[in-house]
Amino acid sequence: MSTLNEADFASSLERVAKVAAQHAQDVDSRGRFPAESIEALRAEGLLALFSDTSVGGMGGTLEHAARAVERIARECASSAMVLCMHYCGTAVIEKLGAESVRREITAGKHLSTLAFSEQGSRSHFWAPVSTATKVDGGVRLDAHKSWVTAATDATAYVWSSKPIGSEGASTIWLVPRGAKGLKIAAAFDGLGLRGNDSAPVVAEGVVLPESARLGADGAGFDVMMGVVLPVFSMLNSACSVGLMEASVGRAIAHVTGTKHQHLNSSIADLPTVRAYLSRAKLRADAARCLWQDSLAALATGRADAQLRVLECKALTNECALEVTDLAMRVCGGAAFRKESGVERAFRDARAGFVMAPTSDALYEFMGRALVGLPLF
Ligand SMILES: Cc1cc2nc3c(=O)[nH]c(=O)nc-3n(C[C@H](O)[C@H](O)[C@H](O)COP(=O)(O)OP(=O)(O)OC[C@H]3O[C@@H](n4cnc5c(N)ncnc54)[C@H](O)[C@@H]3O)c2cc1C
Repeated sequence: MSTLNEADFASSLERVAKVAAQHAQDVDSRGRFPAESIEALRAEGLLALFSDTSVGGMGGTLEHAARAVERIARECASSAMVLCMHYCGTAVIEKLGAESVRREITAGKHLSTLAFSEQGSRSHFWAPVSTATKVDGGVRLDAHKSWVTAATDATAYVWSSKPIGSEGASTIWLVPRGAKGLKIAAAFDGLGLRGNDSAPVVAEGVVLPESARLGADGAGFDVMMGVVLPVFSMLNSACSVGLMEASVGRAIAHVTGTKHQHLNSSIADLPTVRAYLSRAKLRADAARCLWQDSLAALATGRADAQLRVLECKALTNECALEVTDLAMRVCGGAAFRKESGVERAFRDARAGFVMAPTSDALYEFMGRALVGLPLF
């Protein structure tokens, strides 16, 4: 149970959403970091939404974090995904990090993210091939991370490697962005989420004290599956749900506000257009319902919570592909214009599905769960 003030939370969110909306088109067209919305989140205290009150945080629940990501995604999905990754990193730091770092987050001085995906094991983030080796003065990290959201703006990366010596698939670290030997390999120039700053990061001989480890050596898999996956699944889904909400709204506004003058009728007078809109709305609402039910399953510890975590990301990501495609269709050529916001949501929605675990991997995991096979 959270004690945060719901009315204050809702109005803070609206103020941030307004800032995100103002800059979304520029962020997308220049492929630049959404500095204004992240600053607005910081100013409203929302970077500390998912931190405990004992360290000065807002003490929000996963449902609050999901609502925040969903609301911002309606305006600027790049900002929403940066926030999603910040809350994922925060969840790990809250559980396993030093109190000083937790307090940096609540003071708005620490933007977090995940550095899990690697060039070697690609979307199979649970099996890092990067290494951690004991050396004089600490631990040496070497890695080719393939995608890190907010790579140039995060304060530190929640980072995975093979264990130093223990059994187990991985170990988790907190790696400061400025660590010697760390290089952001390339700027991000992507199809969608262009303000996401998702760049490859290379570590060559980065030496950190052993105290930079988050949890026990070899215990990374449990952190990934037990702490990160439920949060990431719900927040990544929130981004898809927000994109669908915005797309349906923009499509309705366009078809009701645009005429074929020679016929004196609006686009909305076409039955085919109305049928496409209905399909889009059905998909968006079905996805929202499963997302809300999954959040409830996690909050109450329901027996089907684990299955819901897998289902929710797959369904919301897939529905977002379809809904944004339908919005493009009903808005016609007008949707191609950048200022419509329709094509931006169409491009942004493509990312959720390829973010790991990808939909295809989720189908495999769900199938295994359904027939009683072990997931790995
Ligand atoms: C905008 C953006 C931001 C990102 N931010 C981050 C971040 O902050 N931190 C981070 O760690 N990562 C991040 N990622 C990386 C992301 O989580 C994935 O790891 C990455 O997109 C996978 O791409 P790949 O080419 O390596 O996939 P590959 O693993 O090469 O997959 C290629 C294809 O094979 C399929 N496939 C793979 N495994 C299976 C399986 N077991 N069963 C069935 N099909 C399978 C996939 O579905 C896909 O269609 C980001 C990605 C994007 C696009």
